[in-house]
Amino acid sequence: MKVLEEIKKKLEAEVSVSEIYYEGPEVIVYTREPEKLTDERIRATVKEFKRRMEVRPDSSILLDPEASEKLIREIVPPEANITDISFIPEFNKVIIEAEKPGIVIGKAGQTLAEVKSKIKWIPDIVRKPIIPSHIIRTIRDTLKKESKDRRSFLKRVGIRIHERRTKSTDWVRVCPLGGFREVGRSAVLVQSNESNILLDCGVNVAAEGKDAYPFLDALGFDLKQLDAVVISHAHLDHSGFLPYLYRFGYEGPTYTTAPTRDLMTLLQIDFVDIAQREGKNMPYTKEDIKNVIKNTITLPWGDVTDITPDTRLTLNNSGHILGSSVTHLHVGEGMHNIVYTGDFKFGPTSLLERSHTEFTRCETMIMESTYGSSQDLQPNRRDCELMVIDMIRRTMENKGKVLIPVLGVGRAQELLIILDDLAKSGQVKDMKVYIDGMIWDATAIHTAYPEFLSRRVRNLIFREDYNPFLSEIFVKVNNGEERRKIIESAEPCVILATSGMLTGGPSVEYLRGICGEKRNTIIFVSYQAEGTLGKRIQKGWTTATMSNSHGKLEEVNIALNVFTVEGFSGHSDRRQLIAYVMNSKPIPERVIIGHGEESKSLDLANALKRVGKINTVVPRNLDAIRLA
Ligand code: ZN
Ligand code: ZN
Repeated sequence: MKVLEEIKKKLEAEVSVSEIYYEGPEVIVYTREPEKLTDERIRATVKEFKRRMEVRPDSSILLDPEASEKLIREIVPPEANITDISFIPEFNKVIIEAEKPGIVIGKAGQTLAEVKSKIKWIPDIVRKPIIPSHIIRTIRDTLKKESKDRRSFLKRVGIRIHERRTKSTDWVRVCPLGGFREVGRSAVLVQSNESNILLDCGVNVAAEGKDAYPFLDALGFDLKQLDAVVISHAHLDHSGFLPYLYRFGYEGPTYTTAPTRDLMTLLQIDFVDIAQREGKNMPYTKEDIKNVIKNTITLPWGDVTDITPDTRLTLNNSGHILGSSVTHLHVGEGMHNIVYTGDFKFGPTSLLERSHTEFTRCETMIMESTYGSSQDLQPNRRDCELMVIDMIRRTMENKGKVLIPVLGVGRAQELLIILDDLAKSGQVKDMKVYIDGMIWDATAIHTAYPEFLSRRVRNLIFREDYNPFLSEIFVKVNNGEERRKIIESAEPCVILATSGMLTGGPSVEYLRGICGEKRNTIIFVSYQAEGTLGKRIQKGWTTATMSNSHGKLEEVNIALNVFTVEGFSGHSDRRQLIAYVMNSKPIPERVIIGHGEESKSLDLANALKRVGKINTVVPRNLDAIRLA
């Protein structure tokens, strides 16, 4: 703790420091004169000691909560729509939830500065999702309620991050524990003689038994010995096994973005619910999901954060789904730099910017290869959008219904943006879009984090005060009764429903209801796995077996139009995968390839070797690779 002593000594030349300690990666300084520590002064200290720092007021100078709340409401203009004010004495913070955080902050931060100088509490502003989200409510309430535990957790993590067990970093290696030469159960262990870090912890939802989970039995150490977990994005093949770690002894932090934390909670809870309904054994419960929430440290994109004594983490946009990140690890004071791409899109979409390419250094890149074979070329994004728009227009003109089966998180929200644009363009009159299944909950989470969306959508929301997710064409479907009415009515419409591969859920009910009529259309925009009902329909089967409303299997006639739009993926196609490596700054010396069928990973490895003269490796799960 020598660094803390030094920081204290330095600061005490100017202010009195009543307490100084680590909370997770940050140095926390308590003082009776917080106003004396200007932002500039803090920045200089952060730079000098290479530690993130937060200055907090000493408890003795805080205005009492009642008077503080009154002042906040007086100072902040009512247009901010403050929806909640909660005081957290464990951190001397006040969480202000508002519909318009920008107004709480004020021009150049003036409003907030005035609040702070009067009440002394540190204001923490959070955005109230415009579409109410019970997931966000639960997460925020849990964190508030558990503040005391959370404080001791952060202190414990802080000590581990800043106290070395070894003298120096002597070696670095990676060991794939799942998701290599396959898609699903992504997990990579990054180790040095000082640190054990796990990147992603997913499940393979299509597999049974132990094939569904990563090889945690190969860790070679107790889960208590794991120092940190980093989750790239919310999809279950990257986050679905995380609660299991906490169930079986892991007590450390999970680092990810705030939207990923919220979306993965939604998906994990849904995963448990479905397993329970189907009578399947689950390796964890909802209580374990709550433990994930309590132990997650969220990071904004671009912040460099110490996560162990010899490793720094930086997350940046990967362009795949809301909050999805490319992970950069700097290990051992300049020894080795790893970029783990997770799932990424090196191309813009209507919802997100393309993946980040600039890194301070990068010797090894671990990348996905979902569309890694030479045949995996996707058409231009705009052409895909136009194809979908054209099909919707023609079906609506024929008084038909359009069903688009989608995954809850990702393409669904991109389609909402495209459909809202279509409605605004006036090309289709009186279009209603019914939204069924988990899509609505996921969209609600999108409305809490507009700053993670594409520049265009951000501009719509912040500059033009228009939120496309709130478009009046979108109608939430609440229950089976409403679903039946939509199916039975003669009204032409668009329906977005889960599941994406017609393996269950409302999309199957809609299909059964509308598949007999020629004027209706089903549009596939996402990958259909072999053996699923989606794949059969896509292949052009004229009959299909589906369970009827009483749960009895029935053969039905498939007469509706079947239309597939390739290229609507959140993954990079072959060209984008190669372009990403070649456009990365710097270009990595070595690329380790995973997250793809074996043949695709090998195909991409050969291409990168040929085109970029890059050293490539396609390890099997458990093949450890020494990096330094
Ligand atoms: Zn994904
Ligand atoms: Zn994935």
